[in-house]
Amino acid sequence: MVQSAVLGFPRIGPNRELKKATEGYWNGKITVDELFKVGKDLRSQNWKLQKQAGVDIIPSNDFSFYDQVLDLSLLFNVIPDRYTKYDLSPIDTLFAMGRGLQRKATETEKAVDVTALEMVKWFDSNYHYVRPTFSKTTQFKLNGQKPVDEYLEAKELGIQTRPVLLGPVSYLFLGKADKDSLDLEPLSLLEQLLPLYAEVLSKLAAAGATDVQIDEPVLVLDLPANAQAAIKKAYTYFGKQSNLPKITLATYFGTVVPNLDVIKGLPVSALHVDFARAPQQFDDVIAAIGDKQTLSVGIVDGRNIWKNDFKKSSAFVNKAIEKLGADRVVVATSSSLLHTPVDLTNETKLDAEIKGFFSFATQKLDEVVVITKNVSGQDVAAALEANAKSVESRGKSKLIHDSSVKARVASIDQKMSTRASPFEQRLPEQKKIFNLPLFPTTTIGSFPQTKDIRINRNKFNKGTITAEEYEKFINSEIETVIRFQEEIGLDVLVHGEPERNDMVQYFGEQINGYAFTVNGWVQSYGSRYVRPPIIVGDLSRPKAMSVKESVYAQSITSKPVKGMLTGPITCLRWSFPRDDVDQRTQAMQLALALRDEVNDLEAAGIKVIQVDEPALREGLPLREGAERSAYYSWAAEAFRVATSGVANKTQIHSHFCYSDLDPNHIKALDADVVSIEFSKKDDANYIAEFKNYPNHIGLGLFDIHSPRVPSKDEFITKISAILKTYPAEKFWVNPDCGLKTRGWEETRLSLTHMVEAAKYFREQY
Ligand code: GLN
Ligand code: ZN
Repeated sequence: MVQSAVLGFPRIGPNRELKKATEGYWNGKITVDELFKVGKDLRSQNWKLQKQAGVDIIPSNDFSFYDQVLDLSLLFNVIPDRYTKYDLSPIDTLFAMGRGLQRKATETEKAVDVTALEMVKWFDSNYHYVRPTFSKTTQFKLNGQKPVDEYLEAKELGIQTRPVLLGPVSYLFLGKADKDSLDLEPLSLLEQLLPLYAEVLSKLAAAGATDVQIDEPVLVLDLPANAQAAIKKAYTYFGKQSNLPKITLATYFGTVVPNLDVIKGLPVSALHVDFARAPQQFDDVIAAIGDKQTLSVGIVDGRNIWKNDFKKSSAFVNKAIEKLGADRVVVATSSSLLHTPVDLTNETKLDAEIKGFFSFATQKLDEVVVITKNVSGQDVAAALEANAKSVESRGKSKLIHDSSVKARVASIDQKMSTRASPFEQRLPEQKKIFNLPLFPTTTIGSFPQTKDIRINRNKFNKGTITAEEYEKFINSEIETVIRFQEEIGLDVLVHGEPERNDMVQYFGEQINGYAFTVNGWVQSYGSRYVRPPIIVGDLSRPKAMSVKESVYAQSITSKPVKGMLTGPITCLRWSFPRDDVDQRTQAMQLALALRDEVNDLEAAGIKVIQVDEPALREGLPLREGAERSAYYSWAAEAFRVATSGVANKTQIHSHFCYSDLDPNHIKALDADVVSIEFSKKDDANYIAEFKNYPNHIGLGLFDIHSPRVPSKDEFITKISAILKTYPAEKFWVNPDCGLKTRGWEETRLSLTHMVEAAKYFREQY
């Protein structure tokens, strides 16, 4: 019999219960027991929901208070010494590794001051994992048994689950060596790690688990030979152990074909493959699968929100059944549903027609079940008919097509995507106008989004204050931010972005062709969730989106204020994109809308314009080859289309964060100044890569994800280290990213110390 499976479910709760609880705990408003209770309730709700939907294979251990990769680091004791020395409880250690911890001594507790571990994008998604950080002193051992505990918790509720674990090779491969052990190759630790995995797996078996899902998403990457060998070694090792549960080896987000030789013949009972993303791998996968192995067909998209096409998916699954027989086929979500919002029924404001196009995590459960029933010959005629109608109506919808947008995209040419003169000619013109000191200081854009800001935004959205009252409030916030920056001596100012709920949604709401949700939250990292807008149709900008606030900010200061926009690639990547049009087309439509905005800002007297592209790196196709080179070229082109309509003297900034960035790939954007996240990357090799970057760069000097305040001396040490490799005349001084998630107190101190450090260096040079 064909079975249905879910690879993971969002853990944040339908109403962001997890965020409220974790932040409440961090702020001392709830106890650790109360926090744990919220976690337990969320797990139980999720399991019951899936059970009720009729899902056969339900995951456990997909829950996490912060990040599932970080959970493994805690479980395997991959905890750098700087965290263990404070004797924190396991949960506090977890949070300290995830977000840093700085607290003064009290009568009962020691003072703590430790930065967070590095956070990295999870493959090409907007989820971030906390990078496992290995040292020569790492002593693997088991701390607790979270996967077993959560399995038992479900079992007590009468629900048999399939525990999920990130596999050993992905865990090591996605990690890095700590600063004290830079020559350590994480994969060399495999042999030490495998017995611990085996121990967890055998405990799971002893507790009653018949199956486990082991995720090895690295199998969709171009794996080096040592990683391929590690896969062979790890699964051969598991195959030799007795009393382990049956293993479903899960891959997602791409094709496994280039690694099929490695996968073939591994002693695992099932292979899960993402056919939503890469259907073209079907024949190769079928040919590689062993006689007794099951194929888990990932067909319900875990990364997007479009309603599944039942007819198409059922036909696909039937092909697999023909080849393998019903007993060896599972119908599954393509990946964990972590990347989709929890429940479409919570959307009360969506246009009914548009709402009919979507399916969120809860609805996807039904999709998996209906497809499974359909291919098993059960009667789901009504569901099929409704689905077919809906799919057809989307194809024809008037809300989607705009011929003038299509014509404008077709008219994009070389001239539109090239600045009037090259950087060497622009720079002197800009210098004349701005006359900035050496080590110019700036910030990335946002200032703390205070409670007051949120309250007023809510009031405005609910209509309890008027547009004029709201504008007055926003202007007073802008004024506070401007005065503060003047007071501490920053050189290039920002307006602080108080009017923005989110850097993509804010623009999405002003662009035709977008739909947005009221409750469609998706976890981005830790307690930070985003509500990605949805690109439904052709995109265009009816009127200026950000000019008013920038003009106001510039009108009250004599220092330059940066106009602040979100770039085309980031708008695309942090939205749910269309699946009926290619990504380049969507990027160009956005680029044209932004080009108009950039030109409007310039015309309104804004002399510095920053177009943020923090998602540039995450959009990179996972494998090398034609698709990847094409991406580099159209992504850069989209940025240039957005920014090349201005005069030489207008200074274009851009900003990138979250990911390993190769400076060679941002050259083609031709921005005058870029700022990048850097504070946790401060090794000399990485700096050296930037040395030959032709334009100016601000290497981020402090971590904005953490409330920790670096001292002036710490900034000086950091800047000195960078200056050993990086030239002073191209050096901008700035934080890693925007400050919206920070409080004012730490913002004030950190920035003051940063500016003092810049002044110190000006005196030295
Ligand atoms: N300008 C944005 C801000 O400061 C950039 C945010 C980002 O890169 N994620 O908030
Ligand atoms: Zn950023």
